[in-house]
Amino acid sequence: MCSGGTMYSGTVDWNCIIIFPSADMATSKLLNSSLRRIVFAFPTPTNCWIIEQDDGLTLVDCGTHFNHGTIFSIIKNYDKSLRRIIITHAHPDHAGSAARLALATGAVVYAHELDVPFLTGQASVADMPGTIGARLLHGSARALGMLDPPPVKHVEALKDNDKVAGLQVLHTPGHTPGSISLWSSDHKALFVGDNVRHWLTGIKLNFTWFSLKPQELQRSCERYREFPAELILLGHGAEHRTKTAVADLLD
Ligand SMILES: [Zn+2]
Ligand SMILES: [Zn+2]
Repeated sequence: MCSGGTMYSGTVDWNCIIIFPSADMATSKLLNSSLRRIVFAFPTPTNCWIIEQDDGLTLVDCGTHFNHGTIFSIIKNYDKSLRRIIITHAHPDHAGSAARLALATGAVVYAHELDVPFLTGQASVADMPGTIGARLLHGSARALGMLDPPPVKHVEALKDNDKVAGLQVLHTPGHTPGSISLWSSDHKALFVGDNVRHWLTGIKLNFTWFSLKPQELQRSCERYREFPAELILLGHGAEHRTKTAVADLLD
C-alpha cells in the first residue's frame, strides 16, 4: 500500500514514497520492482531514476548540484553500489550532481559525445548554437552562475545505438546537441529527457523556444515510434503510462 501524500520527517514507506525534510524536498517511489523515480521539488519538479540490476545501480540523470545528498540517502538503502550515471543532456537540472556523486562512489558518468564538453567544463551551454530565445535564456542563466553543471572529471562518450546497462542509447538532438533518449526493453520504458513535456492530459514535444534546434527535435522524436513504449519517463513531471502516447505526441 502506498502511503504517499502526507508530509513526514523521514522515511515513510520504502517501497512507495519517501519525503525528505531537506532543502530539495525530494519524493521517491518505485515504478516497478527495479525502477525508482526520484523527484526534486526545487527549482522546478525534476526527475531522476534509479535502475537496480544484478551488478549494481544505474542512475539516469542526477538533479541539480545540491541534490547529491538526497540521492546518497536513497542509494544507501540498497545493498548495491552505484555503478553508472547516465546523463540525458548537459543542463544543470539533469547533470548537476554528477561530479560529486562520481567522486564519492566511483560511478562512471556517461553522456553523448556532443554534450561531453559541457559536462567536463571545456565549454558552456551558453555557447551552444540555437534559437535566439534559448540562447538568451542560457546567457542569462550563465550570468547568474546557474547554467553549467559542476565539471565532471571524466565522462564516457556515448554514440547512437550504444548499449549501457541494458539500455539502448538513442541520439535525439534538438534540445541540446547531445540529448539522448534511452530505451529499456525490460521496462518497456522510454527515457525522453527534456524532449517531451506534459500537455493537458497527454504529452507533447517540448516548447520550441526552449530547444536549441526545434526542427531537429521534431525529427529526433520521430524515432520514438520504433519502440513499443508503455512508460514514458520525462525529465519533468509524472511518468506517462500508455500504449499510444508516442503517436499522440507526434501527430
Ligand atoms: Zn530539464
Ligand atoms: Zn533541458
